Amino acid sequence: MIETKKNLKLYKDGMLEAIGGVGHFFTTRLGGVSGASGNLFNASFSREKEEESFKVRENVSIAARAEDLPKDRFTSVKQIHGDRVLKVTEEIAGARFGKPELVIEADAMITDIPMTPLFTTHGDCVPVFVYAKGRAVGMVHSGWRGCALGIAGKTVETMVREYGVSPRDIFCAIGPHICKKCFEIDEPVYLQLKEAYPDEALYTYNPVKNKYYADLGGIVMQSLEKAGVPRDNISLGGVCTCCEVNRDLFFSHRGEKGQNEGLMGAAIWLR
Ligand SMILES: [Zn+2]
Repeated sequence: MIETKKNLKLYKDGMLEAIGGVGHFFTTRLGGVSGASGNLFNASFSREKEEESFKVRENVSIAARAEDLPKDRFTSVKQIHGDRVLKVTEEIAGARFGKPELVIEADAMITDIPMTPLFTTHGDCVPVFVYAKGRAVGMVHSGWRGCALGIAGKTVETMVREYGVSPRDIFCAIGPHICKKCFEIDEPVYLQLKEAYPDEALYTYNPVKNKYYADLGGIVMQSLEKAGVPRDNISLGGVCTCCEVNRDLFFSHRGEKGQNEGLMGAAIWLR
C-alpha cells in the first residue's frame, strides 16, 4: 500500500504494519529534493557527487521526519551484490549517516538496537524486510547475484544464531522489485540462478527471443523457507518497479535503461 505524507509517497507492507513493534518503509521516486524537477527522492549515494550526496541526506531527513525517526541513526552500507550480513552494533549504528566516514561493504544488515533504521537502496533489486518478533530486525538487498547466493535465507540464519530467535517467529516482507515478466536474462545468468534454485516454476523461456525470465521474488521466498521461515509469515507484495504502469511511482534501472535519476530506499527498525 502507498502512504502519502505531504509530497512524500512511501510504500508499506500490510502484514508487517499489522504486526506491531516494528516500523518500515520503501521510498518511491516522489517527495524529495533531487532531480531536475527538485521533487524526486533519490536514496543512493552511489553517484558520488558532492551535491547529490547532500540531497540524499536531505531526502532521508524528510522520510525520517515523516516517520518520527532520528536521522543520524539511519545505518547504511556500500552494496556490492555479495552475501555478507553485517551485525549492526552501537559502534556501527549510524554508518553513512550520523557517521558519514564509516563505509562498510555488505548487502544485508541485522540489529537488535531499537530506533536504528537499517537502510538499503534499490533500483529493481529485491528488498527483504525481516522481523524477529519483538527481538531484532534485518534489511536485505538482493539482486540476482544476491538471490543466487541466498542472501535472504542467510540473513535469517544469522539472526537465529546471533539473537537466539526461532525462525518460526520471523516475519518477512518482500518489497517492490522487478517482476518475472520484466526480468529478461541471457542463458549464463539463468544457469547460475537455476543451479542454486532448480524449481522449474521460477523460470520461463521465450524461444523466439532466446531469452529467459526469472522470478526473483519467488527465489527469495524459497530462500526464506529453506531457512525455516513459515510460508504464512512471508508477504509477497507483488508490486513491480519496472512495469510500465508503475513508471511514475518508482525508479527502474531496467525500465529507464540505466538513465534513472535515482534509487529507492528501504528501511526497517525495531520500535
Ligand atoms: Zn514488471
